[in-house]
Amino acid sequence: MKYFKVIAPLLILLFLLLGNLSTPIKHRETEFLMDTVVTVTAYGNEGKAAVQKVFLRLRELDAKFNAHSEKSELAKINTAPENTPVPVDKEAFKLIKSAHDFSITAEGFFDITLLPLSNLWGFGTENTAVPTENELENAMKQVGFTFISLDPENCTVTKHKAGIQLDLGAVVKGYAADEAMHILKESGVESAYLDLGGNVAVMGGMPQSLWKRILSGQKTRPFVIGLQEPGAPSGTAIDTLSLTDGFIVTSGDYERFFEADGMRYHHILDPATGKPAQSSLRSVTIVSKNGLMADMLSTALFVAGEKEMSALYDLCEHVITINDAMELTYVK
Ligand code: AMP
Ligand code: MG
Repeated sequence: MKYFKVIAPLLILLFLLLGNLSTPIKHRETEFLMDTVVTVTAYGNEGKAAVQKVFLRLRELDAKFNAHSEKSELAKINTAPENTPVPVDKEAFKLIKSAHDFSITAEGFFDITLLPLSNLWGFGTENTAVPTENELENAMKQVGFTFISLDPENCTVTKHKAGIQLDLGAVVKGYAADEAMHILKESGVESAYLDLGGNVAVMGGMPQSLWKRILSGQKTRPFVIGLQEPGAPSGTAIDTLSLTDGFIVTSGDYERFFEADGMRYHHILDPATGKPAQSSLRSVTIVSKNGLMADMLSTALFVAGEKEMSALYDLCEHVITINDAMELTYVK
């Protein structure tokens, strides 16, 4: 009895300590959304409800910003006649404004009105084909973010030329990643990982197993994210990055492409030529605290190639490029 009085509190203490040290439960869900495979992983008791909330939101964003869906906010603009202000919801206006502003900043490498060109090449469809110069010339006449004006007071978008169509394919996954991380945080999740087809977001570090926690004294360790080797099977890492909080976004010529007559044609277009951007780069990866900015920058810097892009580099926290000799450069 004497011993029991001493051992019992010790056992309770040990039990509490181990409970506190044990690895939080992990909840993971995967769904095909935004034309890609989306996986969200959250740790802790709040994980399940939080991940479900995230998917509700991602489905909503997918429906709202899918340029190919008739019901999207973008379709309202894309099917409207020129010189007619089109009212869109507040969120759509804000995102279009951010992407339009970035198109101005990006010195000709980024344009949110490339849809007629993407459609001509058949990206996002089964019918990919190399267009003739004549077809390209005609489609180029229907492209240019300068033919769009935005009225913040009335939340309207006006096209000033027939045929102009918006495409936020280079933007929406980054924005969605920002939104997802926000929801997870608000729901009380402390550690999470999100993969939105090339757009990775991490939060709070990865919880360590009990023994690693005891040995290292650290509750979490940075997430380790593989950098895809261009052209290799999906999931083949050429290098890894460690990150506790933030976004890692890659744009590459291997993500969506088709081959014709021995040539490879990919989905990231150079607004100056209407053709797949040609440089020695195979991929550009941006590390940032802002998912939307990382998404826009990765696309623009991929188009820019290794040219001097000081204004855009200033907006990046870290930039990693891989060229066609598979050389990895930590540019910044
Ligand atoms: P990402 O994978 O983020 O680089 O985005 C590629 C997608 O953005 C394409 O599938 C097109 O929908 C769109 N896009 C292609 N080229 C450009 C560009 N130069 N500027 C803006 N959007 C583009
Ligand atoms: Mg992008």
